Amino acid sequence: MDKLLEFLNLLEVPLYNLDKKLSHLSEEDVKKLIYNYYMSDISVAELTELYSIDIYPGGLFQLFPAIEDKEHECPYCRCPLYFKWPSKTSISYQDACCLSCGHTDHEYCRCDGCMKMRSHLEKERKSKEKDVIISYYKIDDYGPFHRVDDLTARDVVYLLMFYRCCVDETNLGSLQRLMEIPLTPGGTLDLVVIEHLLKNKFIAPSPEADIRAFIFDENMKPSGYVREFMSYSVLLGEGIASVDRYIRDIEEMFYQQSYPASWYDELCDLSYMLALHECLEYFDHCARKYGFKAPLGEKTRGMFKTLLKTFSVSEIFPFIWSAASSAAAFYKRVDIHISKSQAANSMVGNCQRRAEKTLSEGWQRKKYKRDRECPRSAFSEILHDFCLKIGESAFDMVLADSLLE
Ligand SMILES: [Zn+2]
Ligand SMILES: [Zn+2]
Repeated sequence: MDKLLEFLNLLEVPLYNLDKKLSHLSEEDVKKLIYNYYMSDISVAELTELYSIDIYPGGLFQLFPAIEDKEHECPYCRCPLYFKWPSKTSISYQDACCLSCGHTDHEYCRCDGCMKMRSHLEKERKSKEKDVIISYYKIDDYGPFHRVDDLTARDVVYLLMFYRCCVDETNLGSLQRLMEIPLTPGGTLDLVVIEHLLKNKFIAPSPEADIRAFIFDENMKPSGYVREFMSYSVLLGEGIASVDRYIRDIEEMFYQQSYPASWYDELCDLSYMLALHECLEYFDHCARKYGFKAPLGEKTRGMFKTLLKTFSVSEIFPFIWSAASSAAAFYKRVDIHISKSQAANSMVGNCQRRAEKTLSEGWQRKKYKRDRECPRSAFSEILHDFCLKIGESAFDMVLADSLLE
């Protein structure tokens, strides 16, 4: 005797609770019907006809009486759970379910009760996490930890950039704040700025930050945070008023042109670094236009560093633009197979050759304006307009010559 038959023999069919469409059948008929549905060769359409059941064939198995799960009850209604019969073609196991609220005995159940329970547990977990964050990232001392006189030019420029562009009236600053202009060229140096300010104790991650910025290990211990999404408190005094006073003192030195002489060389170094990143940003931008991924490693950087000794950023841009369009033509050649990355890599040598030809042949230097999609950054405005007072002319200058003379 097979298992189903054995099971059906033991099964008590609750006739009082039977679906209306089966109510004309005896307990024995119901058992036979179920057995035949799963085990015989009789088609479902024939079965519905044979037993005079008014249902489309696909819906027959749903009329079979659900079987009580003697071991579990619904945690919400406190009534028994039932197993529903699967269709004969289904191979999936059916979880026991509550016929009154729809709860199923499954960890991903989406019944009202389970959804509410999960959201409650989630809230509890978040509030626990928040407590852990507050005790772990609590700021005991808001500084300031440096006298204005002891700052380097890099400290000052990065601080001004962050304070002006990212910090709000509650003394919380974040890279996520909507800025009219990018903080650094194409955002490439944003994290460099943040790392510098963190390392030198100008800012600290704030326990007030969005909880999604924090990372926890499996024991719910804080194990780090995502720099881009973190909010930082500025450690230049407690409260925005004292922070602002500190910043005003720095700014005053530039208004009065009374900053330390050593800063000047450092500001020029920053200018050089900014120019390099403007070239890299435009290089990346032009490569993307043709669907290439620009190589931005040491070789490319080295090439631009060399060019910046002889050319301004505005003079390097035409080399980049032509190098990208040559790479696109190179990629399209039909006589040889060129991969996208080979084509993209050819941009580096191409830029250099164009620059060298311009020098050796004495060609007239072309100048490009900034691309609308690579707008001027806050780094450029603060460094060139506010600190060095040379403005946008820096874009057209050969920096090594004009600034370091
Ligand atoms: Zn229930
Ligand atoms: Zn449920």
